[in-house]
Amino acid sequence: MSSRTTMGPPVCLDVPRRPPEPAPGCDVCVALAKQRTVARGLSDLSAVSDCNVELAAHPEKHPMARQRIAELTAPARAENPGA
Ligand SMILES: [Zn+2]
Repeated sequence: MSSRTTMGPPVCLDVPRRPPEPAPGCDVCVALAKQRTVARGLSDLSAVSDCNVELAAHPEKHPMARQRIAELTAPARAENPGA
């Protein structure tokens, strides 16, 4: 009977997720993506993960930015300041 004396291969429980992308037009998301790039360059994978978590959650925190994007990309409409 043989007994293993080394570790086995790593267990992969799920397909790795794609890193979240910054929301277009959001300066915070762009800054987080830049931080992530720097962290990746420094091999600081903990910081990379932190940036990914913040990026994934950030769109929920800037509905005004999404509204602004929708306004900027919508067809031109006459402004209606009185209504
Ligand atoms: Zn954002």
